Amino acid sequence: MKLHLYDTRARQKREFVPLEEGKVGMYHCGPTVYQRPHIGNYRAFLFADLLRRVFEVLGYEVKQIMNLTDVGHLLADAEEGEDKLDVQAKKDNVDPWEIVERVSEQFFADLKELGIQPAHAYPRATDYIDEMLEMIEILIDKGNAYKVGSNVYFDVHSFEKYGELSGNNIAELEAGARLEINKEKRHPADFALWKTDEKHLMKWDTVFGANGFPGWHIECSAMSRKFLGDHFDIHTGGEDNVFPHHECEIAQSESAHNGEFVNYWLHTKFLQVDGGKMSKSLGNVYSLDDLGTHGYCALDFRFLMMRGHYRSSLNFTFEALQGAAEARKSLCGFISRLQSAAGDAVADASQCDALRTAQQDFMTSLCDDLNTSAAIAAVFTLRGEFMKGEFSPAHSAAALEFMLNSVQPVFGDLNDEASAGDGMSDADVDNLIAQRTQARADKDWSKADEVRDQLSAAGIVVEDTADGIKWHRALS
Ligand code: AMP
Ligand code: ZN
Repeated sequence: MKLHLYDTRARQKREFVPLEEGKVGMYHCGPTVYQRPHIGNYRAFLFADLLRRVFEVLGYEVKQIMNLTDVGHLLADAEEGEDKLDVQAKKDNVDPWEIVERVSEQFFADLKELGIQPAHAYPRATDYIDEMLEMIEILIDKGNAYKVGSNVYFDVHSFEKYGELSGNNIAELEAGARLEINKEKRHPADFALWKTDEKHLMKWDTVFGANGFPGWHIECSAMSRKFLGDHFDIHTGGEDNVFPHHECEIAQSESAHNGEFVNYWLHTKFLQVDGGKMSKSLGNVYSLDDLGTHGYCALDFRFLMMRGHYRSSLNFTFEALQGAAEARKSLCGFISRLQSAAGDAVADASQCDALRTAQQDFMTSLCDDLNTSAAIAAVFTLRGEFMKGEFSPAHSAAALEFMLNSVQPVFGDLNDEASAGDGMSDADVDNLIAQRTQARADKDWSKADEVRDQLSAAGIVVEDTADGIKWHRALS
């Protein structure tokens, strides 16, 4: 099946054609490691993981790189001002390297909890200073960049396509940039490749002089080149990365090697919170731990992100998270019901129209620019058909295979064993609740009490509501 992806630069969906048959190289702008990433960042990283998983289900060999920005990202993505790492280091009164270590560790732990598959490399900007310097020198030699004292700037007028990705034009950018007076620049919209500031905490002595550090954009150009070469398939980031970050990356990379840089540019729409912008600088952020204190696990959040299309606006609320948690649990319950219904039967999908339709709708939706909401709807339709009670054991076994071999590889494990009290999984809980309901219907009160005690010993709170039975894990 052909995969179509929305390419920001082309402003339309395009059929994905790899540079090399059967292979995909992707680079994702990763976190700036000055504070623990928030759930908005994880929307972008979960999308990167989803993209990889869909490629793998389609049989591609994927090489996935995500950088860690540990220097040069200035406040508000600006050209002038303080480095986010410096600000945090001063605030905490610690060495910036200590912050990088601590935050990177938290980031990797979060990825694990979210069921995000490890990328093939997580290069840190400060480990690739030589590669950045090499690229900057190439740009100077070619006349795309110029030195002013110990600073180096990219000349945006030297790159004809500057503005093509974001739709900005240089004249308008210059009008805006004039407010940010920097007399060193030849043109107000030029951007820094290398800066010098003796007060900067992380700094290097180089051919350009002492006390220098890289501009944020050159980092991703140099690291992507190092791991994926001059020209690769896909580059992703959140929508805020389109300009200036990715626009500048294109200018640097294409000028440095006189050729194409990236074939498909994919951007995740921002996650909002309570209808407004969510960002570390605004302080209205949630971490995975914050969700945990409200009784939700990382997989509930993952499922919430999967329920919305990555290019759609998504507003985070705890009601929406609750809905996602229930939907995830009901798919876990579906898997365990399929297991019981299949027994030892050999899977056979013939004459199971419901399954064939689900399989087809699932893949067609994913191949249509990763339409995960439609893919999940296809799975729920299958569940609805199964619940009518007309699936043979062989059909149930085939549906189970679909859930385990297609649905979970794309959405990740739905079952959160890690948060399962004394080891009781969501599916176990669903099974016990079904047993309790049956025991009550049979007026077998001692059995019903026994099951209730088992659930409560595992920290499971069961509520009988007007909408049926609901359960959640008690907060410890
Ligand atoms: P940063 O740590 O600010 O460098 O951001 C890391 C990645 O998260 C970048 O690709 C950003 O575009 C993305 N990002 C930041 N905030 C959000 C948000 N609220 N929703 C989605 N993606 C975001
Ligand atoms: Zn980047």
